Amino acid sequence: MGGANQEDELTEETRRLIAQVGGKRELWHGRGVVTELCNSKPEARERFIRPILEYAERHPEVDALHVWLSDGSNNTCECEDCRRLTHSDWYATILNDLSPRLRQISPNMRVVFLCYLNTLWPPEEVRLAPGCDNLVFMFAPSGRCYQHRLGAPDCGQPLPPERPPVNQVTMPQGNVGNMAFLQRWRPLLPGDGDSFLFDYHFCWDWVLDHIIYDFAELLPGDLEDAAALGLGGMMCCGTQRCFYPLSLPMLRVARSLAGRPCDEEQEREYFRIAMGAEWERAWDFIQGVDERRVHPEWKQGRWEAPRLWWEWTTAEHAAATVAWLDQQKAVLEEAGQSAENDRERQAWALLQHFREFAGFAWRVADAVHRGERDSARQIAEEMVVFLLRTEPEVHRFADTGLQLSVVKRWPEVLAEEQVEPAVETPPLPPQEA
Ligand SMILES: [Zn+2]
Ligand SMILES: [Zn+2]
Repeated sequence: MGGANQEDELTEETRRLIAQVGGKRELWHGRGVVTELCNSKPEARERFIRPILEYAERHPEVDALHVWLSDGSNNTCECEDCRRLTHSDWYATILNDLSPRLRQISPNMRVVFLCYLNTLWPPEEVRLAPGCDNLVFMFAPSGRCYQHRLGAPDCGQPLPPERPPVNQVTMPQGNVGNMAFLQRWRPLLPGDGDSFLFDYHFCWDWVLDHIIYDFAELLPGDLEDAAALGLGGMMCCGTQRCFYPLSLPMLRVARSLAGRPCDEEQEREYFRIAMGAEWERAWDFIQGVDERRVHPEWKQGRWEAPRLWWEWTTAEHAAATVAWLDQQKAVLEEAGQSAENDRERQAWALLQHFREFAGFAWRVADAVHRGERDSARQIAEEMVVFLLRTEPEVHRFADTGLQLSVVKRWPEVLAEEQVEPAVETPPLPPQEA
């Protein structure tokens, strides 16, 4: 696995079983994990299914076995035979074969299959057999928007009416389009339609919680919407070290999934337990950061928004937030003196660390607005150094590697020539004859 090119590991025998894309049967980006198979070949399907059954035999302890296709997109087989059906139809073909064979081996084991990337659009012809009630549907809207709750009726655009041609699927912009896929899959689910949400709050976007996002606020709404849409729960896709600067978003997830949503009193209790006597200073600080956060619009796409988040700030907003965060240093320091044990000291240190992290981000925005792009780039580089230097202090609570994967792009972006927005030529005034 890893990043190494695995092309050499293919033999002529195996090459004919992988997807033909752009006229070639090659590993997608040189990696097996993102490569699809030539699913119209019964042998390819069988060689996909057999190891799953062998695994199930060796692991009777497994409750739910995830059977996913490749982690790539627009890389499905374009050969003439495969084109007879959509990729999701081939997936359903595989599942219909797998389901009864798995039941023979392990009657209680469930197979999780998913709507994701290449399988966003549901099958057209092949139906999951009604008897395949050991299948559980997982809805993985990896392109969703985290500015708005999952069911927000005005976030993004509806799906195009026509299914796109093979390997030309684009991610819908926003939540309306993403949720439309769930609606299309829903009537096709076998058995009792058991399903759950696979969501990515703690994958990338938590890195900018309180700067762009407010997950503690968003998550309960997402879980409510998921339940209303018939999804029976949520699996968090992301790092296990996302308790930064607080554990509040995860606390809300845990409680909501257990049917005991958090109210404000419980949140205050969380602050009291985590921070000790001066917890209200921490509460005020977090409220203050959230009040100042930005609200990027979806139009530039999920991956662009964190990269260029400063474009949604103004010069005044950035300068005032930098000043406010500076002033909070002493406030948090003084409040942190009240810590009576290691847990409380750690909680205050994390909050102070986050204040510095947010301070770097806002100083980048401030410098961009002052037209000092080079200085902005230097601050972004200092931010990277800060994260690397302080990782040993926070690694149990914050996944520095993921933070860097977001922040490391900033110096590169800021080093690029700034592209001036295109100026539209005003229409010529009507000519007098
Ligand atoms: Zn094929
Ligand atoms: Zn949105």
